[in-house]
Amino acid sequence: MTDSLMRSGIGMTSQRTRQRLVQRLQEEGVMNERVLAAIGNTPRHLFIDEALSHRAYEDTALPIGHNQTISQPLIVAHMSELLLATGPLDKVLEIGTGSGYQTAILAQLVNRVFSVERIQPLQDKAKERLQSLKLRNIVFRWGDGWEGWNALAPYNGIIVTAAALEVPKALLDQLAVGGRLVMPVGDSHSQQLYLITRQEQGFKQQILGNVRFVPLLNGTIR
Ligand code: SAH
Repeated sequence: MTDSLMRSGIGMTSQRTRQRLVQRLQEEGVMNERVLAAIGNTPRHLFIDEALSHRAYEDTALPIGHNQTISQPLIVAHMSELLLATGPLDKVLEIGTGSGYQTAILAQLVNRVFSVERIQPLQDKAKERLQSLKLRNIVFRWGDGWEGWNALAPYNGIIVTAAALEVPKALLDQLAVGGRLVMPVGDSHSQQLYLITRQEQGFKQQILGNVRFVPLLNGTIR
């Protein structure tokens, strides 16, 4: 088999398995067509070490090294759907780039993604992957997400893919009026997904059910 045939063969297989994942997410209640299309378009196996890539299209979180995980597709879809529920978004801040998979999905759904990660080697790998997928509307920052990214605030959406006991104050400050913030809140035993909307005066808070994320930690790692 030629190289290119082999590549397209692999492409077709993953396209088909990807479609099955999309179907499964639909059965689980994901309805936003743009979110489903982005998941159908995105080769999740490229975001995972080769040794685990055969499990890439299972609806499960998987290890990506440094004690971190790539989020479960259903959660990625659900959080994206929540962010987009009130219409198209211009600027979205993501805390916790990790593998870059959620970043890749967001980049297909909003104008610009600003993604902060505290572990530099994870960020470097994510950058490479997203560049090779030709997703160019992403800006990366190596830093502590507790501080957000003030220089480029305000954001129309903020998504945090690690859990803390409370929503960092800096993130609330950096949310635009009318903007939405989605984040898991809780400890390692019990976490709930919070949706916070900034209003003209104050914030509206909705609690949306149980989730399980790695913790939002302090400081940076080189
Ligand atoms: N959305 C990612 C999930 C990665 S897991 C994916 O699907 O691959 C959570 C990520 O948050 C990890 O990469 C972890 O290093 C990062 N993280 C934890 N605390 C952080 C902080 N304070 N600032 C920035 N990133 C943080």
